[in-house]
Amino acid sequence: MTDFPHGSVWLVGAGPGDPELLTRKAERLIGMADVIFYDALVGPGILDFAPRSARLVPVGKRSGRHSKDQKTIDALIVEAALTGERVVRLKGGDVAIFARATEELDACRAAGIAVRVCPGVTAASAAAADLGLSLTLRGLARRLTFVTAHTVKGRSVDLDWQALADPQATLAVYMGKAAASEVSAGLIGAGLAPDTPVALVENASLPERAQFLTRLDLLPLAARTALGDGPALLLIGEALRRRGADAAAAARLQTITIDT
Ligand code: SAH
Repeated sequence: MTDFPHGSVWLVGAGPGDPELLTRKAERLIGMADVIFYDALVGPGILDFAPRSARLVPVGKRSGRHSKDQKTIDALIVEAALTGERVVRLKGGDVAIFARATEELDACRAAGIAVRVCPGVTAASAAAADLGLSLTLRGLARRLTFVTAHTVKGRSVDLDWQALADPQATLAVYMGKAAASEVSAGLIGAGLAPDTPVALVENASLPERAQFLTRLDLLPLAARTALGDGPALLLIGEALRRRGADAAAAARLQTITIDT
């Protein structure tokens, strides 16, 4: 009995971009799909695993340029499964992290459709790998917090800075580029040291990746001047202080400082 019968749905994590970071299961499911609804962050190298006959439907959301709203995506998935197609819903990174999986799971279940999840490598793991360092550090960084600083236009970021300003934690900020100033001011205002190390990683795992190392008080400047249009992750905390990074990672890394 196959785990992917006709009329069922898999939510599949595509990983951070590098096709080699797909799981073998993800590759197999993509190869069995009749239709694939994919996010903007899913690269072409990954869709190459789809059968030629599969319908490839972009439903990408990039900040500010929503091409399809969540309800429409939910409806498309359900409709395709109800016509008997094997549906892959392909999402960047991991399915369970800032990826609206709940809405899609609920929509399928409400329609009586079998739906399962295949996890993926999340952006924070890929960014740490590119930097050649660990997100946790024995004795120094005992907590790893994933937050999103996605802002609705015109509104400020609604995060509990007091809870996040923990010198023993590493903070991975998804969708945080536009909110870099608020993140920096919020954390410093709540007591985190202005010289706390920060890494900005754009296009993690991809050939066009860019990495910058700076300090919390310079984060707004770094985000404004160094980052391009690609997806970018902010990593904040003592674990990011550079120590003996491997040569390849060191060569890619640019440091942003101001002489005082
Ligand atoms: N489910 C995804 C996150 C989706 S939210 C995951 O687990 O990774 C989208 C955000 O993820 C982007 O705004 C960016 O902050 C981050 N992101 C995704 N891919 C990335 C990449 N290759 N490099 C850096 N950041 C990335």
